[in-house]
Amino acid sequence: MSDTQNLCPCCSGKAYAQCCKLFHSGRLPIHALDLMRSRYSAYALNLPDYIVSTTHPASPQYMDNKFSWKRKISQFSKNSSFLKLEVLDFKERETLASVTFIAHISQEDQDATFTEKSYFEKMGEKWFYRSGELSSGHAPNLVTTGQLRLLPLAYYGEPILRKKADPIAHITNDLRELIKEMVETMNSCTNGVGLAAPQVHHSIRLFIIRTPIENEDGNREAGPIEVFINPKLSSPSIETWEASEGCLSIPTIRCMVERPKEITIHYTNLEGLLIERRVKGWEARCIMHEYDHIEGILTVDRIDSKERAKIEVSLQNLEKRLHDGLEL
Ligand SMILES: [Zn+2]
Ligand SMILES: [Zn+2]
Repeated sequence: MSDTQNLCPCCSGKAYAQCCKLFHSGRLPIHALDLMRSRYSAYALNLPDYIVSTTHPASPQYMDNKFSWKRKISQFSKNSSFLKLEVLDFKERETLASVTFIAHISQEDQDATFTEKSYFEKMGEKWFYRSGELSSGHAPNLVTTGQLRLLPLAYYGEPILRKKADPIAHITNDLRELIKEMVETMNSCTNGVGLAAPQVHHSIRLFIIRTPIENEDGNREAGPIEVFINPKLSSPSIETWEASEGCLSIPTIRCMVERPKEITIHYTNLEGLLIERRVKGWEARCIMHEYDHIEGILTVDRIDSKERAKIEVSLQNLEKRLHDGLEL
């Protein structure tokens, strides 16, 4: 049987040569849905290069070591049978999109079907896979009705991340709407526990966090969402501690940052009430990290020159990847 008669693994009903092969040979998908389908086909046909070249540098899946990354993808392809792709939902707005789908696959004759809500982001003319919410089996609860409420993130190198943000005069409906979109944006990022307005291109004094809850065994869980409007910090404890911090605007790079153990925060909540609290531990760290964002400060500014020198090359590469969409 010739190649043209083979049905495309993406279940479009078309021949591979008239479907995903076009994308695998270099054509850019106009819609994120086509990227999603062609990535499924690439997994089915064991084409790790395509997966790597269409993964956003901000994706948690992104690996600097391309060799071992491609080998991992290849192993997954070889160990799985791709039986069927079922697209449940597709939303696209300007440079962002989500696709919810069921991938019917089996591994060693065991059913390994999963449902995923994938998020995509466009840089220049090209769509990239950014992240995904996974659940095993059929999980239609990953489908949300209504419009896509994601906001584009500002990444390392963008001037808005360096500006001191403006105070908020009134809590308006637009502000409430922005906060809802910030919550969805934070949730769409794997490991997102905090997000400041400048990170979504709004230079105003606002941030949200998922209050970290510390267990007795020292592990952390993401708790309820809290909103901080016009926050002010005071009375930092003299005692400090160091911990590794990541940042959604500086994906893949973590820094050891020293911060006070406790601090007092004054802020306005979403109901317009003025609140004063003493916070400590991870909650305090998370608040101080987000507060830095509205002052135009990033984690990479909080490390000593020796540590900074160690990450300088990765940082420059990241900036190139994020702004030129370049593959390095
Ligand atoms: Zn296809
Ligand atoms: Zn951050």
